[in-house]
Amino acid sequence: MTSPEEPKRGRLHKPEANAKFATKLIHFGREICEHTGAASVPIYQASTFHHFDLDNPPEYDYARSGNPTRQALEEYIATLEGGTRGFAFASGMAAISTAFMLLSSGDHVICTEDVYGGTYRLLTTILTRMNIETTFVDMTNLDAVKAARKPNTKAVFMETPSNPTLRITDVAAVTGWAKEHGLLTMIDNTFMTPYHQRPLELGVDVVLHSATKFLGGHSDVLAGLAVVADKSLGMRLKQLQNGLGNVLGQQDSWLLIRGMKTLKARMEAHEQSARRLAQWLSEHPAVAQVYYPGLPDHPGRAIHERQSLGYGAVVSFDAGSGELAKRVMGRVRLPIVAVSLGAVESILSYPAMMSHAAMPREVRLERGITDGLMRYSVGLEDIEDIIADLEQALAD
Ligand SMILES: *Cc1c(COP(=O)(O)O)cnc(C)c1O
Repeated sequence: MTSPEEPKRGRLHKPEANAKFATKLIHFGREICEHTGAASVPIYQASTFHHFDLDNPPEYDYARSGNPTRQALEEYIATLEGGTRGFAFASGMAAISTAFMLLSSGDHVICTEDVYGGTYRLLTTILTRMNIETTFVDMTNLDAVKAARKPNTKAVFMETPSNPTLRITDVAAVTGWAKEHGLLTMIDNTFMTPYHQRPLELGVDVVLHSATKFLGGHSDVLAGLAVVADKSLGMRLKQLQNGLGNVLGQQDSWLLIRGMKTLKARMEAHEQSARRLAQWLSEHPAVAQVYYPGLPDHPGRAIHERQSLGYGAVVSFDAGSGELAKRVMGRVRLPIVAVSLGAVESILSYPAMMSHAAMPREVRLERGITDGLMRYSVGLEDIEDIIADLEQALAD
């Protein structure tokens, strides 16, 4: 046995700065237990830690403030996003709401109008009570973003591609403008993951994830992550995470690390199938409209290609009527019909009655979220089977 003060550190080191993404996914510095050599991060099922020497407080003291399993995950996501510090939370919304706690009463936020429904709810029903107000704008239009700035504007919140119509925000343009005015920039990077898009490299201050989706990848863990590059911002987020206490437990931290190791392999396969599906849908006579940033006629394609390395695996399409959409959802045999996305199994969701049910109908229609719109998160099934299944579901 090795004593706690003499870990076998021989093989443990941060990945080389120039290591490729796939290598960092596997060798992130904590992949081997430093005490036993075990080939996976141990689950430290402990809420508190012994003080061997009262005069020298231990690295870990109490699990809300730090647990080695959670910390391994936090260092892992920081490495993948190219940040200095990562944070793991009990859900994507816990990560997002904690980031908004960087603001104070009286502050104003500019947010993309296509923001995730839970973030919309947070901003419009909870943060309003804290006297933090938000203006929602069409972020595909930089002038609209600029026009929304007020004397008390403190932050800009982006999400690109957006949900469910996959509209594209020019991250570098918005961030560059925000920096000129001293505004904090935040982005929800859930749809892309750091495999496809690394917003810190474009100047964004806080990158947020619902790790419940592609990062976890198996529809079995609810989790959120945040990453920053700036060290003082990292200290402020650490204080918030510890103060709010909405941390991810050690079992789920382990499960998330387990899922993330295959991120590249999964994202590549997901995306390849999504491209095929988007192309096939765009040629189908029963489909009125397809939304996918990889399609040649997608209005944001050029901007997306500048800031991202891939198009992702979410394809939305409009069957023209609620009647047909419901028929498709009743007939499909492969995807689960559910809220959520980013899993090994395909997931078909119906924004009008699921994620966007709370949105007033006129607002919903204005944003292209019609009664015929469905969102397909392409899983790892064979694409031929996925297409054949949709073919029969869309048939007369
Ligand atoms: C699911 C999701 C969230 C919320 O994450 P939870 O883990 O469900 O709390 C936030 N943003 C996007 C884009 C999402 O898809």
